Amino acid sequence: MNCVTCKKPMVVLELQEVEIDYCLACGGVWLDAGEIELLVDSKPEADRLLAQLGERQNRQAGKRKCPICLKKMEIIIIGPKDKVQIDHCRKNHGLWFDRGELETVLTIFDTDNNSAVRGLLKSMFGK
Ligand SMILES: [Zn+2]
Ligand SMILES: [Zn+2]
Repeated sequence: MNCVTCKKPMVVLELQEVEIDYCLACGGVWLDAGEIELLVDSKPEADRLLAQLGERQNRQAGKRKCPICLKKMEIIIIGPKDKVQIDHCRKNHGLWFDRGELETVLTIFDTDNNSAVRGLLKSMFGK
């Protein structure tokens, strides 16, 4: 699969048994549908995240194309104050996160500071 932003081939990483596509060039991350909630440790927080992703009023037309169906994606804005713009395939193939955005989303929704996923993301993005 090629990167949504810079079109370079992405590498596959495994985070807690979830396979994510990661671009070494720009730090972008592609998650297939259903994978984001697997990265959030607690079920209520995962549900809160999914509810925000499903809210229609937060959506805008986007310019980037889904790496699977090559159709233009929509942008979903989530987060109470540190707003993150995530690209979402309208056919629900998955979600695109620019460098550092996945970590921001997990900071908002995953209240466990020491979760393995967040530790790994920190090392990936060097924060
Ligand atoms: Zn890239
Ligand atoms: Zn798609």
